Amino acid sequence: MYGLKSDITIDTHDALYCLEDYEKQAAKWCPGCGDHAVLTNIQKLCRDEQLDPAKTVFVSGIGCSSRFPHYMNTFGFHGLHGRAFPVASGIKYRRPDLSVFVITGDGDCCSIGAGAWIHAVRYNIDMTVMLFNNETYGLTKNQTSPTSRVGTHSNTTPHGSVIPPIHPVQTTLGVSNVSFVAQTVDWNPPHMYATLKAAHEHKGFSFVHILQRCPKFQANLVEKLTTSKDDLCLLNHENGITLDEATAKSFKHFEDHDPTDINRARMLAEDKDKIYLGLFYQNKNAVRYDQYGAANLGFTVDEKIEALNRELDKFAV
Ligand code: SF4
Repeated sequence: MYGLKSDITIDTHDALYCLEDYEKQAAKWCPGCGDHAVLTNIQKLCRDEQLDPAKTVFVSGIGCSSRFPHYMNTFGFHGLHGRAFPVASGIKYRRPDLSVFVITGDGDCCSIGAGAWIHAVRYNIDMTVMLFNNETYGLTKNQTSPTSRVGTHSNTTPHGSVIPPIHPVQTTLGVSNVSFVAQTVDWNPPHMYATLKAAHEHKGFSFVHILQRCPKFQANLVEKLTTSKDDLCLLNHENGITLDEATAKSFKHFEDHDPTDINRARMLAEDKDKIYLGLFYQNKNAVRYDQYGAANLGFTVDEKIEALNRELDKFAV
């Protein structure tokens, strides 16, 4: 049973689910880990959107952030390394009535899961994807990841990494049929919340790149990013991420950007001097593969067997 408890900021007359309905066991991430902030924001989003916990699924791969489904009182699938996308695609393809979220880390998505990631972007199946990028393999205690910047010292590159990193936003924007790409940081909860809300509202594959603190293994990086406002620049547009005035004013640098302009989005993603936060690109008309799968969902068992036989008969010689 779900009921009203505490921490309600929405109209309680219409609220069926409260924050506690989405909470499970206490998260086992390190103190100060950015994953905690994302979890809190997602639970709030679920509550504010009144998502039925029985019709909400969190799918993850392997890594620190991929423990996420264990902390949500919804359905979840903590699966194989790099394989969150195919699992989530299958779920949404056959159960379009479910809200599907994907949790993946920089190692999980950009290394072992890179092939699945690229094709998931192209298939544009409706799901909200959060890529937690802390530039390290945290769960296995500090190895250089595909997104680690040049010079990163770790167990695998003790003298400093030498290969330029993959930039997840840049890469996603390069895939055909891309439909939603945004970037946020875990240490600005209102910006992160607004970004995740916009991503959830988008019908298609919403890709949110989250710069995530790992104080355990990337303390210097965290210190630099969170204390200096000079590196961050807020993307501004009436069709971008809607922010309250106080959150918008917390930024020092701003850039006007129309999120329908993919060429400029790619240009901004390549900028090495600034980290742009907000909506890079949105195409509400991109082809969605899940819409094709929904055609035969009402079939009975007999109709399914008949359809299967019909298809198999095409191969008869
Ligand atoms: Fe978070 Fe890093 Fe600890 Fe993993 S190792 S839980 S990413 S702080």
